[in-house]
Amino acid sequence: MRLDQEDESRNIEDRRGRRVSRGVAGGGIGTIVILLLALFFGFDPGLLLQGNVQPPEYPRAPSPQSQQSGGENDEMRQFVARVLGSTERTWDQIFQAAGQTYRKPTLVLFSGAVESACGFAQGAVGPFYCGEDEKVYIDLSFYRDLRQRFQAPGDFAQAYVIAHEVGHHVQNLLGIMRRVQSLQSRAREREANALSVRLELQADCLAGIWANHAHRERNILEEGDIEEGLNAAAQIGDDRMQKRAQGYVVPEGFTHGSAQQRVMWFRRGIASGDLKQCDTFSRGPLS
Ligand SMILES: [Zn+2]
Repeated sequence: MRLDQEDESRNIEDRRGRRVSRGVAGGGIGTIVILLLALFFGFDPGLLLQGNVQPPEYPRAPSPQSQQSGGENDEMRQFVARVLGSTERTWDQIFQAAGQTYRKPTLVLFSGAVESACGFAQGAVGPFYCGEDEKVYIDLSFYRDLRQRFQAPGDFAQAYVIAHEVGHHVQNLLGIMRRVQSLQSRAREREANALSVRLELQADCLAGIWANHAHRERNILEEGDIEEGLNAAAQIGDDRMQKRAQGYVVPEGFTHGSAQQRVMWFRRGIASGDLKQCDTFSRGPLS
């Protein structure tokens, strides 16, 4: 990728190296109730606290979280800030053209664990977006997982991960996220999962829209970048994730879409750059 024409975003909140204690103070009574229920019924409260309704973007990684600082990490910080800056430029323009204002999200860098308005999270869950505080959270050590565990190397793969989370922010601003969450709260698990897949595939498509615009205007993509991005979309497809984690595939449990679907929608966004091409909700079967 060529990011030299991209300005670094100023909306980066660096919380790396900050210790977070999983106290009850931050969560309020609702959190305590959930934690108590979790203790009684034995499910993982982390899953519930994570992003409220949406399932976690990436299953928990068993790999230890290393907290290096300096060197590589600061290069990574600059990379992330430029990608975020680039998404700000693109979405600013798209919103403006529609007579709306794009409220920029904040990107929080953290190491190990973080407290968000959606609850406590550990780096092992991977990057996520919290609609309550309009922030994207990322532990940069996730990029090592992306390269090694998910076999998705490359800078455009790394940028895609951020652009996908920014896609969720766009969905939030457009009121799509709230509508989906409200439908999900009344749906059975299977339908709730299917809605989640549509939401996630749309975020992939929106990530593609960013890539299209940024490339058209500032030529960010180099040879091999698109393949890297599409490979990442495939590697984090639910079928591959499940296969890696448990050795078999349960389509009803999909929350983000299959490898094929994620590639298709990401590609659709990249190829068209057109928001109308990202309507994953009014289409029938998604495969
Ligand atoms: Zn997502």
